[in-house]
Amino acid sequence: MVRLQKSPNEIYSGIEAGGTKFICAVGTNPQDLIIKRIETTTPQKTIEEVIKFFKSYTNIDAKKRIASLGIASFGPLDLNKKSPKHGYITKTPKPGWSNVNLAGKLSDALGIPVAIDTDVNGAALGEQEWGVAKGLDTFIYITLGTGIGGGGVINGGLMHGLVHPEMGHIRIPLDKDDIQDFKGSCRFHKCVAGYGCWEGLASGKAMQLRWGKPPEKILKNDKDYHRAWELEANYIALGVYNLICTLSPQRIILGGGIMGHPGLLEKVQGKVEKLLGGYISALDSPVKFRRYIVRPALVNKKSDVALSGVLGAIVLAKCMRND
Ligand code: ZN
Repeated sequence: MVRLQKSPNEIYSGIEAGGTKFICAVGTNPQDLIIKRIETTTPQKTIEEVIKFFKSYTNIDAKKRIASLGIASFGPLDLNKKSPKHGYITKTPKPGWSNVNLAGKLSDALGIPVAIDTDVNGAALGEQEWGVAKGLDTFIYITLGTGIGGGGVINGGLMHGLVHPEMGHIRIPLDKDDIQDFKGSCRFHKCVAGYGCWEGLASGKAMQLRWGKPPEKILKNDKDYHRAWELEANYIALGVYNLICTLSPQRIILGGGIMGHPGLLEKVQGKVEKLLGGYISALDSPVKFRRYIVRPALVNKKSDVALSGVLGAIVLAKCMRND
């Protein structure tokens, strides 16, 4: 992608559209960013709020013009530029949001061009521009939260294909220490014959289902604490291992609320190293694993809010007209 030369009066807008919140921003880089958080409710109400925010910004600073909008959104999305439904959220489990023309509605209301991609592809772009993926051309960004999603850049381009990657739904075996009749949390891929999908076994929703409480409540004084987090690290490591063998990424970024659990990243690094069994010579020491499987860098230090997605949306907005 070719970067636009920023004119002094031109700025960009970006949205990280998530299932619980839309993080909206106006600016050009991490040091120049005005952020507004909007709760995700119905499509109509949420989109109205988003439009209000961007329009109000134009009223505050009339000298600056918002040139374009980038959206990094939950999905699935139609990203086929030739499709009449390009920019739509397609069949999402999120009630009311299936078949919503997210990009088109915002473009019409704001009168600016809109670029859209998945939340994880967006987060990957943000990290490539300003974070831990600077200078890399093949890497993966995985978010482990209520659900699991993965995207990234391959040979310099964002990962697209038939649709877009659905790394959260790769198939992995039920751990021998898991509840053996656990069905998982994915409504599309129930755990059968000892196999489930990654999201169904390892997402926050899966943890809630298995332990009766969300991951952030599974704490040290809990009787299930050790088993729960050991199991979680096993599952994360399995998925990461499969993706390393499939795509040969130069780095893997693990974001999302679950990865905030103390010590989990280090556990995952150790388990992936064990699973690979010394096979990949570029990763021949624990120090290399610590640099290889990492947390995102773009996080608001004060509020702990992840900014990779919304900053990636700003990059999408910056790049779109020269694509
Ligand atoms: Zn699934």
